[in-house]
Amino acid sequence: MNRSKKRISLLLAILSLGLSLSAEGKVVILDYHTFLGNGKSNIDYSEAELAAELDRIASMGYKFVSLDDAIAGRIEGTANIVVTIDDGNHTVYPAFKDVFEPRGIKPYLFVYPAIVSGHVRYALTPEKLRFLAEAGCGIGAHGYHHNPVTDKAWAKDPKDFMHEIELPAPALERLLGSRPTMFGYPFGVFSARAEEAVAAAGYAWAFAADEKVTQVDFADPALDRMAVPRTITYRYNRGAMLRELERLVAYDGPPLFEAPPSAPAPEVAGPLPGDVAK
Ligand SMILES: [Zn+2]
Repeated sequence: MNRSKKRISLLLAILSLGLSLSAEGKVVILDYHTFLGNGKSNIDYSEAELAAELDRIASMGYKFVSLDDAIAGRIEGTANIVVTIDDGNHTVYPAFKDVFEPRGIKPYLFVYPAIVSGHVRYALTPEKLRFLAEAGCGIGAHGYHHNPVTDKAWAKDPKDFMHEIELPAPALERLLGSRPTMFGYPFGVFSARAEEAVAAAGYAWAFAADEKVTQVDFADPALDRMAVPRTITYRYNRGAMLRELERLVAYDGPPLFEAPPSAPAPEVAGPLPGDVAK
């Protein structure tokens, strides 16, 4: 190979590296909870608020993709959103029918089986959970009783801690016929011990959650597979969240979001985000 041919092949190699980098996809993983619409909880949305938020996000140029497609790399660019919904509240079913399904969005559901198997009043019934799974929503584990898997929880009762990680898979398998491969930490919080235990229990990926808007690249070797970040959608913080989503895709159209009449931004109760609105 002469020198100019070498140069050309080097140039081609650099170009193809650049192309493969630009083809990499990133997602922001949103974490919703309940859709009661009673205005009582910072993590609860009415269906109208939910629909408005999703439509604003779409109008910035974001595409809603499934968690499975994001993990498998079947996405392009950075304007991608995965919707996840934690807990398994009964309002997930009407919200799916009324809001998500008409928009072609298949949320991934992290549920804690104690309330589903126990037919608790505020939970999805086993039938509704199966319907959502058959409609294309992925279903993952979210603890068993929704207890935190922190170091403090381990110090208090190692057996309870391990139950949160080991019991949901067989329980969900009984409900759905297949074992979950994803784990969403109750309250979004985790510990090194929990990461080890979740990996040992056979989960492929585990998900944390906090208020930060974080882009995730599932192909990044530096990504901690046992603590993938998600963004909790706090209703009172949605203006800031939407502005951050605009910034990430350099949206430069007309302002899409008027700040809601400023309800006092409540402090998130204690060290854990509020959760499990009933
Ligand atoms: Zn939860």
